[in-house]
Amino acid sequence: MGEFDLIERYFKRTQSLKSTSGVALGIGDDCALVVPRPNTQMAISSDMLLEGRHFLSTVSPELLGHKALAVNLSDLAACGAKPLGFTLALALPEANADWLQGFSRGLFALADQHQISLVGGDTTRGPLNICITVFGEVPVVDGQSQAHLRSGARVGDDVWVSGTLGGARLALEVFRGNLSVNADIFRQARVRMEQPTPRVALGLALRGIASAAIDVSDGLLGDLSHILKASQVGASIHTALALTLFDAGKAVTGQQALHFVLSGGDDYELAFTAPAAQCDAVQRAGQISETPVTRIGQITAATSLQLLDGEGVVVENTSASFDHFR
Ligand code: ADP
Ligand code: MG
Repeated sequence: MGEFDLIERYFKRTQSLKSTSGVALGIGDDCALVVPRPNTQMAISSDMLLEGRHFLSTVSPELLGHKALAVNLSDLAACGAKPLGFTLALALPEANADWLQGFSRGLFALADQHQISLVGGDTTRGPLNICITVFGEVPVVDGQSQAHLRSGARVGDDVWVSGTLGGARLALEVFRGNLSVNADIFRQARVRMEQPTPRVALGLALRGIASAAIDVSDGLLGDLSHILKASQVGASIHTALALTLFDAGKAVTGQQALHFVLSGGDDYELAFTAPAAQCDAVQRAGQISETPVTRIGQITAATSLQLLDGEGVVVENTSASFDHFR
């Protein structure tokens, strides 16, 4: 199978979504053409997945196809952008039909859920590497972009997190042989690690409500710190509330569970801030998007991140987040 057969067979589909996604020209030419709608901005983001670094070599190609797109959609979700389409740059050691079949199945199942099309890409031989670029749209209202930025948090805002945290890290520790848990817990945690759900619907529902947002890919405290730095504020996080985000029952408890919640990566939930007066609106956005939301702290004027125990006493923060170059 040659490069062009491969693209034709596994990645080129009859594009039926052109009218809704603004895609005027998809795969087959030197460029794709996308028509932005009036009063919108285009949100663009790339994420690369490398074998051995971002996924285990044993993971099924179908799950990999899902995850490669999911982590990208998660960035659009954080910004409150509506996904429109994506490109795929793929380096493959060989053109293996089974692998390509599985990978494209997982990829397009998630793409179809979000009604987005693959508009182009690049294919080359090399160590397995998957790079997706997604694009989406954000409305501009009265000259103001509705995108959630990291720089919008204000003193007194509440700090919120969607869904649950720590599951992906728990699965990773089991895979590494550092932990053993019962089969049910492992199955659930593995879904969190291998098949994350991008919180696109919540991101859209939070437009005009959230003041800042980020997706949790490297660990809650590290990712939240990016909001704090960009907004030049601090935060107090209640560890007892944060601990309620842990979803693996009693498999792991206490400090270890808290550590998984605060610094475990790969969960792809949203961490966001909103004015205290928007508390009900945030709850409603959670209901509309069928996504649980939990308030875990407040934005403060002190430019530091404090962890507070049940009595409001400051506890030491020993959780570092993931950094590829550390
Ligand atoms: P070019 O030589 O202009 O870079 P290519 O010959 O590499 O283009 O690709 C031919 C067409 O196939 C282009 O429209 C490109 O966007 C598309 N394409 C290549 N690889 C992929 C891929 N993995 N997924 C989707 N489209 C792809
Ligand atoms: Mg070209």
